[in-house]
Amino acid sequence: MNFYIPSEIEAISQSAKRFTESEILPNIDSMEASGEFPHKIIEKMGEIGLFGASFPESLGGTAAGFLAVAVISEEISRLAPEFGYAMNMQAMTCPFTIFNWGNEDQIDRFVPDLIKGKKVGMFALTESGGGSDASGSMNTKATKSNDVYKINGSKQWITFANSCDTGILFAKTDLDAGHRGITAFIVEPKRYDGFSASPIPMTGLSKALCSNAVYLDDFTVPIENRLGDEGEGFKIAMNALEYGRLTVSARSVGLAQACLDESVRYANERVIRGHTIGQYQMVQQLIADMVVNIDAARLLVHRTAWLMDEGKPSTRATSRAKYAAVNAAKHAASCAAEIFAGYALADEYPIKKFTSYVNMLAVGEGTANVQRILIAEDELGIKDANRHPVRNRLRVN
Ligand SMILES: Cc1cc2nc3c(=O)[nH]c(=O)nc-3n(C[C@H](O)[C@H](O)[C@H](O)COP(=O)(O)OP(=O)(O)OC[C@H]3O[C@@H](n4cnc5c(N)ncnc54)[C@H](O)[C@@H]3O)c2cc1C
Repeated sequence: MNFYIPSEIEAISQSAKRFTESEILPNIDSMEASGEFPHKIIEKMGEIGLFGASFPESLGGTAAGFLAVAVISEEISRLAPEFGYAMNMQAMTCPFTIFNWGNEDQIDRFVPDLIKGKKVGMFALTESGGGSDASGSMNTKATKSNDVYKINGSKQWITFANSCDTGILFAKTDLDAGHRGITAFIVEPKRYDGFSASPIPMTGLSKALCSNAVYLDDFTVPIENRLGDEGEGFKIAMNALEYGRLTVSARSVGLAQACLDESVRYANERVIRGHTIGQYQMVQQLIADMVVNIDAARLLVHRTAWLMDEGKPSTRATSRAKYAAVNAAKHAASCAAEIFAGYALADEYPIKKFTSYVNMLAVGEGTANVQRILIAEDELGIKDANRHPVRNRLRVN
């Protein structure tokens, strides 16, 4: 067993750090002032390979693997959490799902442009009836008519939908067949009529990289864009969420680390009663607890990435990593708020922003209760978390 991060992965992490510091951070204020999607930055991220780690070189990827995905996600989220979304939409849940489940034509047509940041991705599963029951709450219907499907219904919270070129959208081709009636589609909202998206205002989160309510009114999807078979959509969605949980977990560790970094800096600067507050043991306790929680969560995330890199079953590990990483991030945000006290509420410090992103990551790719159910049912012998065969085209053919 070896806990060292290989030097090539460390170099990738450093390159994500340098890029975020030099190309993203100086542009965030103007991006938020305009509210415009940062196409140029996303394209540059794609150009330097930040989205390509889980794709072969033949598609324009770097094949650096899932540990690389984890360290890139952590580093971007630590410095610029609003751009963490891109690791899901441009690297994992959208293009990796097309790569994992698509036919050769679909992979060639859609994957390279997504991971190069030339096209904006999306993963549209959730509906307003309740994200934790994706199948029961799904009322969006796809009806086949000659060589196209017409999709009618709505989606909720869909990140990047208002800027999307190529996304994955789930709809029922059979409303009476429960989760077996769900089908996955590769959609092209800018190319076909019937798709509209409206950003959901959310205090504390980015206006430029935002989530949307989506309305589908006879939205056209050509039959050759169906991903997998009719009725396979639920399986595809669950598999996609497993890989999405890797990035969401790593993004949570990044945010937790950001809370710790800011807290350490502040505790070493803020002087109360003649001492920096970091000299006070009760503040030290907060710091110590943050350090240990973050360390433990990061190890679980890296174990998940290692399993994926080995092409081994990873569902059990991803739900544990997601649960632990979000808990570490929530704990770190709450400790940071305690250490900053009144200044945690001031716009000049980032604690409020970190807290908003932690709350977002807490629900993305399944809430805490959803992870608890997966973990406990597995442990109780009710449902083996790793019961499904591995679908990981980077590592297993
Ligand atoms: C900013 C943001 C971006 C998002 N981006 C996307 C996206 O790009 N694509 C997408 O498809 N979705 C996206 N989502 C949706 C996200 O996946 C859902 O919010 C999430 O699945 C939870 O669904 P919900 O909010 O409807 O909560 P609900 O399902 O209504 O849950 C409410 C509460 O009930 C609990 N609960 C539910 N069922 C059970 C149960 N059986 N047992 C115990 N407790 C239960 C939950 O844990 C939670 O505490 C996004 C959400 C946000 C906030």
